[in-house]
Amino acid sequence: MKRPFADYAYSAEPIRRCHWADAVPGADLAAPTAQGDMDIDYAVIGGGYTGLNAALRLAEAGEQVVVFDAEHPGWGASGRNGGFCCLGGTRAEDETLERRHGEGAVDEVRRAEVASVDHVAGLLDRLGIDADRHSEGETILAHSEAKMRQLRAEQADYDAAYGVKTTLVEKADLRAAGLNGRFHGALTVPVGFALHPRKYLAGLAKAAEAAGARLRGRSPITRIERKSYGYQLSSPAAKIRTRKLIIATNGYSSEDVPEWMRSRFLPAQSSVIATRPMTQAELDAQGWTAHQMAYEDRRLLHYFHLTPDNRMVFGQRGGVIASAGNEARIERKVRRDFERLFPEWKHVETPDYWSGMVCLTATLTPFCGAIPEMPGAYAAFGYHGNGVAMGSYCGAMLADLARGGTAEIPRAFARPPGRFPLGPMRRGWLAAEYAFARLTNA
Ligand SMILES: Cc1cc2nc3c(=O)[nH]c(=O)nc-3n(C[C@H](O)[C@H](O)[C@H](O)COP(=O)(O)OP(=O)(O)OC[C@H]3O[C@@H](n4cnc5c(N)ncnc54)[C@H](O)[C@@H]3O)c2cc1C
Repeated sequence: MKRPFADYAYSAEPIRRCHWADAVPGADLAAPTAQGDMDIDYAVIGGGYTGLNAALRLAEAGEQVVVFDAEHPGWGASGRNGGFCCLGGTRAEDETLERRHGEGAVDEVRRAEVASVDHVAGLLDRLGIDADRHSEGETILAHSEAKMRQLRAEQADYDAAYGVKTTLVEKADLRAAGLNGRFHGALTVPVGFALHPRKYLAGLAKAAEAAGARLRGRSPITRIERKSYGYQLSSPAAKIRTRKLIIATNGYSSEDVPEWMRSRFLPAQSSVIATRPMTQAELDAQGWTAHQMAYEDRRLLHYFHLTPDNRMVFGQRGGVIASAGNEARIERKVRRDFERLFPEWKHVETPDYWSGMVCLTATLTPFCGAIPEMPGAYAAFGYHGNGVAMGSYCGAMLADLARGGTAEIPRAFARPPGRFPLGPMRRGWLAAEYAFARLTNA
C-alpha cells in the first residue's frame, strides 16, 4: 500500500492519547483476521462509517458481506473525529456546482446534507445506540466584526437553503447564551447534533454483525485484481474472491488499492485536544456553558463542543508533515489557539491530544458512485472533514447502488474527481493553502 504521508500518520502514535478510546478502547473493536480462501458476494474495504453503513445496509437486505480493515473497525477517522454530526461534506462554491452540474445541483447537495444528518439520527434511534447525543444544531462563531456582518447578511440564505429558522446571537448576548469566548457573535443552524464518535462506531459495528455482516481486522487488502467473476483481493493471510467491491478508505486510502485511486484523494491532518472535565465554576468564569457544537468561521476553522461530562473537545487542521516532532508542535499550536479563544481556561489541563486524516478531492465535492473503469466496484470518499453524517449516508447509498438499485445521490457526487496535479507531492497544495490562510488571517 503506497500512501501519501509518512508511516507515522498511519501508526498507533497519533491516537495514543485519544479521549474517545477511554470509553471504547481499540481492543473492544478488534475483529478476527481474514484467513484462507474466501468466496463472497460483497467485499467492503475500510471499516469506518462509510464501510460499516454499506455493510449494515447490505446485510439487512440479506446480502453476504465482509468488511476488511487494515487495523480494526474504527481505526481511521471514524474512531477519532470531533463528533460533529453536521451539515457539510462539500467545499465547492455554489456557482461552481451549478456551472459544473447544471441547475438544481446546489439544492441536491443541501438535501443530501440534511438527509445525512437524519440518516444518522434514524440509525441511533432504530438501533438503540447510546452515543451521548448532545447539541441543538450547530453554531457558527464570527471571528471578526466583518464576519459577523457577513453572518447577519447570510442568515436569510441559510434559512432558505436548509428550510430552517436560524438564530443570531450578537456579541453582547454571547455570555447569556452560554457561548462566550473571543468571538464577535454567532449564528445557530438548527440541524445536526454532537455525539461520541466511537460509541456510534461501536454500535454500528455491532448492528452490522448482528445483521449478518462479517468484520475482519488486521486484514489490509494489498492488491486488487480484476477477474471474470469480479475481483480477487489479496490480504497477508487470505485470498478473497468477491463479486462486488466497495472502497471505503477515505483519508487512509492508498495510491494503488485500487490503482484508480491514485492522486484522486488528498489526505489532510486534523488535530484535537480535550480538557479534563471542568467544574461549573470554571464554565461560568469563561461564560461558555452551552453543550453546543460550534466552529469559528475561518478558512482554517477551529471546532469545539463541551461533552456531557464538561470536557471541551477542541480541534483544527494539523500540519503537512507527519512525525513525532511535528505532532508535538501542532499540539502546542492547538493549545495556544484554545487559550486565545477561551482565556479563562488557561489553567485547565488538556491531557488528551490526537490527530487523524480527513480527505479532500480536486473537485472539492465528495465522490459516491460506481468506479468507471472497474465494473462492479464502487467507492465513496472526500467528505472534506465532514464525514460523520455524509460518510454514513454515502455508505448506505453505495450499498443500494451495488445491489443494482437507485440511490439519492446528488449529481455533484456521482462524477468521479480527477487526479490532483503533483502526484505523490500533492501535499504541497495543503502547504500553500495553510500559508495563504496564515497570511490573510481569514
Ligand atoms: C481529527 C478528526 C476530526 C474530525 N472531526 C469530524 C467531525 O467532527 N465531524 C465530521 O463530520 N467529520 C469529522 N472528521 C472526518 C470524519 O471523521 C471522516 O470523514 C469519516 O470518519 C470518514 O469515514 P470513512 O469510513 O470514510 O473513513 P475512515 O473512518 O477513515 O476509515 C477508513 C478505514 O479504511 C481502512 N483501510 C485503509 N486502507 C485499507 C486497506 N487497503 N485494506 C483494509 N483497510 C484499509 C483504515 O484502516 C480505516 O479504518 C474528522 C476527522 C478527523 C481525523
